[in-house]
Amino acid sequence: MEAKASDAAGKPLGETQHPASVETDVLIIGAGMAGLTAARTLAEAGVQVMLLEAASRAGGRILTVRESDEVVELGAEFIHGKAPELWRLIEEAGLETYEIDGDNYSFEDNHLRKNDEVGEGFTFLEKCEDWQQPDLSFAAFLEQHPQLDEGTRRHLINFVEGFNAADHHKISVVSLGIQQKAEGQIEGERAFRVRAGYDLLPQHQLDRARAAGAKLSLNTKVESVGWNYHRVRVQALQDGRSVHFLARRVIVAVPLGVLQAGRIAFSPSPPALRHAHGLCMGQARRFTLVFRDRFWATDTELEKLSFLFAFDGMPPVWWTPHPASSCTLTGWVGGPRSQQMAGLTEAKLAELACVQLATIFSRPVEQIRSQLLQCRTHDWHDDPLAAGAYSYVAVGGAESSRLMSEPAEGTLFFAGEHTDTTGHWGTVHAAMRSGLRAAQQVLEDRQSAD
Ligand SMILES: Cc1cc2nc3c(=O)[nH]c(=O)nc-3n(C[C@H](O)[C@H](O)[C@H](O)COP(=O)(O)OP(=O)(O)OC[C@H]3O[C@@H](n4cnc5c(N)ncnc54)[C@H](O)[C@@H]3O)c2cc1C
Repeated sequence: MEAKASDAAGKPLGETQHPASVETDVLIIGAGMAGLTAARTLAEAGVQVMLLEAASRAGGRILTVRESDEVVELGAEFIHGKAPELWRLIEEAGLETYEIDGDNYSFEDNHLRKNDEVGEGFTFLEKCEDWQQPDLSFAAFLEQHPQLDEGTRRHLINFVEGFNAADHHKISVVSLGIQQKAEGQIEGERAFRVRAGYDLLPQHQLDRARAAGAKLSLNTKVESVGWNYHRVRVQALQDGRSVHFLARRVIVAVPLGVLQAGRIAFSPSPPALRHAHGLCMGQARRFTLVFRDRFWATDTELEKLSFLFAFDGMPPVWWTPHPASSCTLTGWVGGPRSQQMAGLTEAKLAELACVQLATIFSRPVEQIRSQLLQCRTHDWHDDPLAAGAYSYVAVGGAESSRLMSEPAEGTLFFAGEHTDTTGHWGTVHAAMRSGLRAAQQVLEDRQSAD
């Protein structure tokens, strides 16, 4: 099918102009890693594809800024483990990575000490893999283990909430077991960073998709999707103007939070939306402070500081970019406690952070303030195009992602990290896998139906 784009007067339009209606073969809503991966895969298979993205950039929850010669990640930062499809892309893009190592510390009872027991949480979580009984929350699971002392219990709750951006009263133990097993298959205990910034990865995927003929329409916020068998009509807002897109199929690759908030009206409502309620959109707050120098590393003890757990403070987790020598400290809080930092401006976060760092490193707060150049954050909770950080599975919802990934009448397909069926919810490689899977489903349907 030929792409047709015309304005009201029937003149041909370029990508930057706003057509009244566009017709293509496959529409993809959302240009994060899931949508971009699906677009590239389909375009390289010779399918005509158009990506519709509400923001003024592609990449979604991968968002990198550059400040005072530092690379600052405001969304995804770590490459978790060795997921083959993600690493193939990193290598293809020629991106330099480095593995995270160094020393972990905890700050407790006003005392900073090296923490050699960082594996404790991981070991207990392996018990979730053996859970054969009906699903229950992590909170209920902990109650089944009264032998755990208070300190370990607190550590585990902080770990599960921090890592999964989840409420431990809601997250499914069955899903934690699936996640543990899945991570075991990709060396999930290892973590890496892209040295020059994570955003180079979606950029590479976009370049490849475009080179294969995919089109991207930015600033195009989809409001409704009407569909029946092999006919899709999408209505979107472009600079306040209503535009329409027609296609035979659509891949919906927007975040779970956007779907759950009903920001896109589907007519008729597909079964996937019902299944979306078996998942939760996790909440987290992260911010990065850029300093003049690595003031904490003047103490040779702390030269290799990597993660710092200060569970009584806010934020409860800090990390450095070690072994890279950049002068940044990142604060992180995941799960319900992130509410305590909701709506705070960069200036307010910086002030709270300086006070906490002064306590942790036993230095005058003025000294820390005088070292600070910048504080950068992105409020994913308040971002209407994300509505949260990343997904996790609610009790009883372990099948929801698989059910969401089933195509509706070969016409409506769902992608995005929340639809990953391999147990890696909430990651970049989950998003990629879902994009590959949705593209494959489209190709199979085209082969059998067209
Ligand atoms: C703070 C934070 C830290 C993270 N850390 C890590 C990490 O260290 N490692 C890791 O692997 N993962 C991490 N993640 C998760 C990872 O970023 C995501 O799982 C992944 O990027 C999601 O990709 P996606 O394509 O599914 O969704 P997204 O990247 O969210 O893409 C969806 C796109 O849809 C667009 N959209 C929304 N609504 C509409 C609409 N109505 N019309 C058109 N477009 C729309 C959005 O603008 C967005 O571009 C983190 C996430 C956050 C928020």
